[in-house]
This record gives sequence, structure tokens and C-alpha cells, in this order.
Amino acid sequence: METCLFCKIVRGDIPTKKVYEDEHTFAFEDIDPKAPTHVLIVPKKHIEGLNKAASDEAEIVGRCHLAAAKIARERQIEEGYRTVLNVGPKSGQSVFHLHVHLIGGRDLRWPPG
Ligand code: AMP
Ligand code: ZN
Repeated sequence: METCLFCKIVRGDIPTKKVYEDEHTFAFEDIDPKAPTHVLIVPKKHIEGLNKAASDEAEIVGRCHLAAAKIARERQIEEGYRTVLNVGPKSGQSVFHLHVHLIGGRDLRWPPG
């Protein structure tokens, strides 16, 4: 999508701190980190959000989570991290390109706000 912020990041039109990339996914540091590790993992394909994902996009949604697990392993935060998808404006979703937040490196409270 031409105007989508995360599509621009995937294309390299907007600079970012890349963490990981493979054929289907792209991961980068969140610009406003909420924890020592706060990485966003996005599908390279534009999907607006989890609520707009089609059944034939199940694999890519899973791949984003597995990329998060790989990054968590590499950063040695496996004692406790969280993967979060904000879905819809009431959840705080502000960028409408599906993204998994990987948050960790500190104690995490439950339930989240
Ligand atoms: P959400 O609120 O779930 O839609 O998450 C969007 C996230 O994107 C927020 O945590 C922002 O800090 C992050 N963000 C916005 N612009 C950028 C950017 N240019 N580079 C990296 N992260 C960004
Ligand atoms: Zn997009």
C-alpha cells in the first residue's frame, strides 16, 4: 500500500532499525519502546489488522509470531515476554498494517491496561 507507514518501512522508504527479515516478515525496533525489548514484527504483505486477515493468511500471522519467538530467543528474554496485537481503534491500534509487538526484558504486569 502506497501510503501505509509500515509498507514504507518494509520497502525501505522510511529508515528504521531493522532487527530481522525473511521472505515473509520484517521486524524493527519500535520508535517509542515500552520495554528494553520492544520490536514490531510485520508481514511484508499489507494486511490491515488481525480482524481483516483472511483464512489463507493464517500462515503469515503464525510466521510473525514465530519470528517474535526467534528474536526473543536471540535476546535471551525467554523467561518472560509478551506478543501483543492491538486490534481496532479501541485497543490502541494506531497503524493499520498488522503488527506483532514483542515486549520483554522487564517484569510484565497482568492484566495489561
Ligand atoms: P499500535 O499502537 O499497536 O498500532 O502500534 C504502532 C506502533 O508503531 C507504536 O508502538 C509506535 O511507537 C510504533 N511506530 C510508529 N511509527 C514508527 C516508526 N516510524 N518506526 C518504528 N515504530 C513506529
Ligand atoms: Zn501496509
